[in-house]
Amino acid sequence: MGRLDGKVALISGGARGIGAAIARRFLAEGARAVVGDVLDDDGARLLAELGDGVRYVHLDVTKPADWEAAVSEAVTAFGGLSVLVNNAGIVNFGRIDEYPHEQWARIIDVNLTGVFNGIKAAAPALAKASASSIINVSSIAGLRGYESLAGYTASKFGVRGLTKAAALDLGRDGTRVNSVHPGVIQTPMTEGMTFDTGHVPLHRIGQPTEIADLAVYLAGDESSFVTGAEFVIDGGETAGTVVTPAG
Ligand code: NAP
Repeated sequence: MGRLDGKVALISGGARGIGAAIARRFLAEGARAVVGDVLDDDGARLLAELGDGVRYVHLDVTKPADWEAAVSEAVTAFGGLSVLVNNAGIVNFGRIDEYPHEQWARIIDVNLTGVFNGIKAAAPALAKASASSIINVSSIAGLRGYESLAGYTASKFGVRGLTKAAALDLGRDGTRVNSVHPGVIQTPMTEGMTFDTGHVPLHRIGQPTEIADLAVYLAGDESSFVTGAEFVIDGGETAGTVVTPAG
């Protein structure tokens, strides 16, 4: 018996990184999944790895028509939709006084409007499932500010707020909506960046599989009374600052 037997998930930005880890874990727990991304080569590789229980679709989260097609694929291939994981996201950097409008518009479009588009397109199919769950991947940058990350921080705070509003709107339909707030995770997004984890209680960065473990809980009926909530998964980074003893 898998923890997600009978569930059908749609995962955006799922061809690599955290999204791909979620797809692998969902499949291992008995779910079937439609993975969407703009990285079609990575998507094809994941499809070859995971086999029959997965479909890949080209999904640019900023395009409502792509979302409609992705939801249709889930319904056609697997008979319905019970889980939406809004995982796709980008990051860009710059001091706020030097940050170009184009970068701002792009990150809000992908990270925040992309989540809105996903919820709007998937909500009718999710309402038809006997129980359904939306998992919005925010960040600890959705809980507090970070230097030179104005667009990312604003978009991830937006995802947190949108999660609350959607939880209120969709609760009557049996759809739960929660946000996940990872700290630094080892993925292509963070490749080449260096992080000092001396102040983090667990003194390390996280792995995509650790986010996937949380996603299994939120996708399944084990979390049946959980909605509108925030799940911080950051090795304790936002709990406080650890001071490394001198010497
Ligand atoms: P990742 O490896 O870059 O994966 C994100 C995926 O989303 C990529 O395949 C990316 O493709 C795709 N994507 C970008 N724009 C898209 C669009 N318009 N439509 C559909 N897909 C699009 O990053 P990750 O670390 O796994 O991140 C997954 C989520 O976790 C993101 O929302 C991120 O903000 C969040 N998160 C990550 C960390 C971390 O430390 N890694 C921490 C907190 C939160 P491209 O290569 O073309 O961009």
